[in-house]
Amino acid sequence: MNSSSSQVQKQDGKNLPSALKKVKELLQGKTPAVFLDYDGCLTHIVKDPDKAILTDGMRNTLQQLAAECPVAVVSGRDRANVEQLVQLNNLYYAGSHGFDISGPNNMHTEPGGAAAAIPALDKAQADLNERLNKIDGALVERKRYAIAVHYRNVAEEQVSEVLEATQDVLSKYKELKPGPGKKIMELKPNLDWHKGKAVHWLLEELNLKKSDIIPLYIGDDLTDEDAFAALQGKGVSILVGEHDEETAADYRLESVEEVQEFLIELTQYLKE
Ligand SMILES: [Mg+2]
Repeated sequence: MNSSSSQVQKQDGKNLPSALKKVKELLQGKTPAVFLDYDGCLTHIVKDPDKAILTDGMRNTLQQLAAECPVAVVSGRDRANVEQLVQLNNLYYAGSHGFDISGPNNMHTEPGGAAAAIPALDKAQADLNERLNKIDGALVERKRYAIAVHYRNVAEEQVSEVLEATQDVLSKYKELKPGPGKKIMELKPNLDWHKGKAVHWLLEELNLKKSDIIPLYIGDDLTDEDAFAALQGKGVSILVGEHDEETAADYRLESVEEVQEFLIELTQYLKE
């Protein structure tokens, strides 16, 4: 199948059918491999990312599902951070948008090649701190494989100064490229790797590219679109809520609560 992005079919997320009560239809008699975004999918979006705590109920749901089929959490957060938030040892974790992957039996690997970008990230971080420390409210957040420049709390007349300085630093490092965000500007490794590539990598690695396995991806982010697109015609994609742009997803769920309801339905079905 041609996987070039021009072949991806997209539509308005509001027109998607709900995934609830459709487990049988979705699975087509196959066993799912379930991929889940974290923020906005398993937890509500909150202002302080440290407060996006997984409820015990959702943790219990994930644990029961993972006893029936492979389950992976795929997030833009650092992998160690997601692991710490979820606290389940029978799941796979793909952090940094898939650059950093771990799983049961001490599996740990970084398949996207991002380690080579660390020196550039370190230097860019120092540059940004120097350029932005005099601007009130500007925050340079270093993640393992990205730098997020936050300007939500910067006075409006100084925002362009933050953006220009960030763009300026970015242009010095060919190893880095910009990433999209809300009131943030992200610098990330300039590599052809994303959540969709990580999903395919995991399917390959776990020997799940088989006719009796169906990949199922649930997420709410623009970065999840890469995974929706990668699975088109090969799996089922479910958009949580809606975003402003068109989506490559097949179904939708309204909320974190509906995600949990769906995962419970799925687990029940697999247990029968
Ligand atoms: Mg999300």
